[in-house]
Amino acid sequence: KTELHIVGGGMAGSEAAWQAASMGVPVVIHEMRPKVGTFAHRTGNLGEMVCSNSFRSDDDEQNAVGLLHWEMMHAGGLIMRTAHAHRLPAGGALAVDRDPFAQAVTDALTAHPNVRVSHEEVTELPTDGHWIFATGPLTSTALGAAIQAETGAERLAFFDAIAPIVYADTIDMDIAWRQSRYDKGETEAERTAYINCPMTREQYDAFIDALLAADKTEFHEGETAGYFDGCLPIEVMAERGRETLRHGPMKPVGLTNPHDPEHKPWAVVQLRRDNALGTLYNIVGFQTKMKYGAQKDVFRMIPGLGEANFARLGGIHRNTFLNSPTLLDERMRLRTRPNIRFAGQVTGVEGYVESAAMGLIAGRMAASEILDQDLPVVPQDTAHGALMHHISGGAEAKTFQPMNVNFGLFRPLDGIRGGRRGRRDRYKAYTDRAKAAWTEWLHAQRASRAAE
Ligand code: FAD
Repeated sequence: KTELHIVGGGMAGSEAAWQAASMGVPVVIHEMRPKVGTFAHRTGNLGEMVCSNSFRSDDDEQNAVGLLHWEMMHAGGLIMRTAHAHRLPAGGALAVDRDPFAQAVTDALTAHPNVRVSHEEVTELPTDGHWIFATGPLTSTALGAAIQAETGAERLAFFDAIAPIVYADTIDMDIAWRQSRYDKGETEAERTAYINCPMTREQYDAFIDALLAADKTEFHEGETAGYFDGCLPIEVMAERGRETLRHGPMKPVGLTNPHDPEHKPWAVVQLRRDNALGTLYNIVGFQTKMKYGAQKDVFRMIPGLGEANFARLGGIHRNTFLNSPTLLDERMRLRTRPNIRFAGQVTGVEGYVESAAMGLIAGRMAASEILDQDLPVVPQDTAHGALMHHISGGAEAKTFQPMNVNFGLFRPLDGIRGGRRGRRDRYKAYTDRAKAAWTEWLHAQRASRAAE
């Protein structure tokens, strides 16, 4: 039988292997550890968690990552099942006992009759055979070079510099306004592509003080090499001089505040549309190493963002990831080499759960292809589908940065109240819709397999 080769036995590779092997496909996992290490992994185990031991919220009615948990459990996911088996008490979060977890993932895969593990580094993109590359944020240097040679250097990033992303419906438009700088753009949509938040001199000064005082995280050892020529964290810009931001990303030129046209703002924070749905906006140029709690406090000082909710907070990390919207097709194959799929964090999702989820889908897709079975399209209204749709085309390719799952990626629902009060109803409606669509998708696969 044709084998499926999976490079990388992390969250995504382990889940992909489990799914494909469970469908009857022989799988070879090529994992470079323990022979070749990374700066974050400690062991040679499959499914090692490199940092926190949290799978985040387990609430499958009010939280998008909890919904992803639910979908993976219902699809027989190894990572999620093992996480639940090694759960530690942590309130609503799914915290995991990391060493027994990775050991159990390793044992389950090595014991599977369809799985073989080969400890070696893969340094090329093979021209034939069925392959899934799930080499993660710390993809080895040699393989990174081979991927760049195939995709073009500018389409494989080695750092993410994530500006915070805000839910559009939580921005106060009585204070902010839509306008592109100098009204640039051919169409009305382009001329109003940005949301602007004005600051007086006093507000700007207070903001700079808060930035300078905020708690920051340190870079990991070996993390910064080659990074700083790209884009500076805003707090580093602020340290260079109080006016630096006002002459950089917060410059107030080419903009007129319709709420107060007589007074020119001292500084303006701009937000740019982040997805085709128009539900998410990123704060332009605001990549940061501030701690998450501090970010919320500091960014809510921006006029118009006082009540903002964040789909994701900012960060700067070592992270190898593809410009997936331009490189991958809707089945996660490299457009130029369809025998190669990518999965996990390297596709531009972020987090253990999201990475494992993309592995689940890639494993099923690759196995269906090998078995010559139809795999129905993953429904966009599920958490898996929303994430996949985002990375393979829904996100803005030019500003593409890794994404956590969140309700801003979901197609809006009609007829549900907006605002804070409506949020619980809306999230419940999203999760109900997703669960129905996911259940139907799983049934359709079982039915088509049974028919063969
Ligand atoms: P990984 O789990 O990293 O698996 C990739 C595997 O590929 C590794 O085992 C690696 O050894 C192997 N590999 C790489 N190159 C090759 C090659 N050429 N040949 C063979 N094998 C290869 N996410 C969170 O949810 N919470 C956190 O707290 C968190 N903290 C992080 C801290 C750091 C420092 C980093 C770098 C990442 C962090 N992440 C965190 C992101 C986390 O790494 C991912 O969410 C998740 O591990 C990604 O899963 P993956 O399967 O895509 O990659």
